[in-house]
Amino acid sequence: MEFIDPALLTYCETHSSEEDYLLKKIARETQAKVMMPRMISGHLQGKMLELFTKMKNPKTILEIGTYTGYSGICMARGLDKDGKLITLDINDELEVMVRGFFEESGINDKIDYRLGNAMEIIPTLPGPFDMVFIDADKINYINYYELIIDKMNPGGIILADNVLWSGKILADESRQIDKNTQAILDFNALIQNDPRVENALLPIRDGVMMARKI
Ligand code: SAH
Ligand code: CA
Repeated sequence: MEFIDPALLTYCETHSSEEDYLLKKIARETQAKVMMPRMISGHLQGKMLELFTKMKNPKTILEIGTYTGYSGICMARGLDKDGKLITLDINDELEVMVRGFFEESGINDKIDYRLGNAMEIIPTLPGPFDMVFIDADKINYINYYELIIDKMNPGGIILADNVLWSGKILADESRQIDKNTQAILDFNALIQNDPRVENALLPIRDGVMMARKI
C-alpha cells in the first residue's frame, strides 16, 4: 500500500537534501545484490533519521537491525563528538559488504557492528541509551522495547520502524490477522498506553513510532 501519492513523494524527495555518494551506492548495491531491498530506509527516511539524530546529538545509539547499514550511517552522522552507535544484525551474510560501507563512511570508529541475535545481545549491553532504532523482526518488537526501556536516559528517543505494516494494521476483524501484523498491533497499543513514554506515530514511509522516555 502506498500511503502517499507518488507525485507527492517525489516532491518530498526533491525537497530533501540529496543522498550523498555513499548512501546512493548502498542503495544501489542493496537493490542489485541483497534479498528484500525494500527493507532499506532510503532517501527520505534516512534523511529524517539523520536530522533527528543531529537535533538530539546522542552519545549512545542502539540500532536493532543493521541490514546494509543505510540507516545506521544516517544516524551515526548525528552522534555527539565522542558518541557511539551499536548496531546489531543476525544476518552474517551481509557482514563483509556492510563493514566495507562502514569503513567508507569516515566514521567507522563510532560504529560498533555486532552480529548475532539481538534478543541475546541486548541484555549484555549496559546502556544507557539516548536513542534506539527498533527495526528487526517484528515479532520481537515488544521484547526489544521491554529490554531497552529501563536502559534509556530520560528524554531518550525510541524510534520503531514499519509500525503501519503496509496498512495491514487496519485489516478488519473478519480477516485473518497474521502474526507479524498482530505483533505490530500489540506493540503500538503498548506504546500508546505506556505512561513511561510520550509518543507520536509518524506516517513516514511504512510508519515510524517515535516514543520519548519521560
Ligand atoms: N535498519 C535497516 C533495515 C533493517 S531490515 C535500514 O533501515 O536500512 C531488518 C534487519 O533485521 C535484517 O537485516 C535482519 O537480518 C535483522 N534481524 C532480524 N531478526 C533479528 C534478530 N533476532 N536479531 C538481530 N537482527 C535481526
Ligand atoms: Ca524497516
